[in-house]
Amino acid sequence: MRRITLFGATGSVGQSAIDLIARDGDAYDVVALTGGRNVAQLAADARRLNADLAVTCYPECYDDLKSLLSGSGVEVAAGPDAITDAAARPVDWALSAIVGAAGLVPGLEALAHGTTLALANKESLVTAGPLLLGRAKAHGATVLPVDSEHSAVFQALVGEHMAAVERVIITASGGAFRDWPVEKLATATLAEASSHPNWDMGQRITIDSASMFNKAMELIETKEFFNVSPDMIEVLVHRESLIHAMVGFNDGALMAHVGPPDMRHAIGYALHWPERKALPVERLDLAKIGSLSFEAPDDARYPALAIARRVMDEGGMSGAVFNAAKERALDGFIAGEIGFLDMARVVDVTLDKMSSSDGLQNAALSLDNILETDRLARIRAGEAMSQLG
Ligand code: NAD
Ligand code: MG
Repeated sequence: MRRITLFGATGSVGQSAIDLIARDGDAYDVVALTGGRNVAQLAADARRLNADLAVTCYPECYDDLKSLLSGSGVEVAAGPDAITDAAARPVDWALSAIVGAAGLVPGLEALAHGTTLALANKESLVTAGPLLLGRAKAHGATVLPVDSEHSAVFQALVGEHMAAVERVIITASGGAFRDWPVEKLATATLAEASSHPNWDMGQRITIDSASMFNKAMELIETKEFFNVSPDMIEVLVHRESLIHAMVGFNDGALMAHVGPPDMRHAIGYALHWPERKALPVERLDLAKIGSLSFEAPDDARYPALAIARRVMDEGGMSGAVFNAAKERALDGFIAGEIGFLDMARVVDVTLDKMSSSDGLQNAALSLDNILETDRLARIRAGEAMSQLG
């Protein structure tokens, strides 16, 4: 039996993983499941999968989780440190599906124990890519991509040499506002930004898809994960979300990964890697689909993409600043404090402020420095939000 842990088990990616695991329950020994406020889901899954441990990141949810699991034999814990402790428990495979920079420390901890880490949590790569991948290398641990575009690139690279790669193209649906007049974007509401044309995902990544901050993060994720230079990475708007990524080689070939927009494919590929096993995803009928469309992204509509290019050029701590400012701005948009287009302004201004005044751009990429940068960037982003004209 393979020992596994799922971080962020109650979320959209976590639940897709549980769907796969529950179909083949005898193959897995579930060590830990972690979640947040949805303790009913966490408890139900911990019972169903017979987990050793269930952890909520919120201490105030401990009592509820404890009582939901009474008599089950499942151990209960709460708080961020308890999630990190769960990452220290030996397993063969762990899924990092926490949303936000909160996924970084548990991911680092799992890697320090040699765990194979299936990484959906792109924020940890954006914030601290070299630290995370360096940790994996130092401990002989493997990081596998779960973001659909990066899983697609990873699969297109099987058996290939990186020296033959000319470009990496990640696709974007264009998000909720792809057909809106640009002038109208400033008025976009939370409800409007929280729906995605093709994918069913958590609220934060859905809004990030509407603003293209999700694709901006994925540009940085591509650079970090595959160690390719920024000028080799392209974003292509592809409305149907069926081609997830393409790799262009030096003989002119483009290897495209085509599949339905279902995260169970990328999760399942990482779960069974290096093998390929049957997965319960839709088989595409391309004759019925008929045609696929491609467009260059519109820079005026999606300012986040230029910000990501800036971050890749600046390097150092700018990924940590970018991610933290983006998370703070997204909190502000969700809370109704700022408008949709203000998110990009806040991130841009925060990057300006931090690179000129806080002297962190050249700091060593240690965990302490990164966490301090993350903390400061959230404060600076909050200030930028209150100064918006
Ligand atoms: P979600 O909001 O549905 O779920 C997030 C999970 O993280 C929940 O279990 C929640 O309880 C937990 N969580 C939230 N805050 C936490 C904290 N501070 N500490 C510990 N746990 C916390 O999110 P999602 O859509 O499943 O996305 C998860 C991650 O996967 C994100 O990084 C996202 O960018 C990435 N991703 C998601 C999809 C998708 O289809 N949803 C696709 C690609 C990548
Ligand atoms: Mg993606």
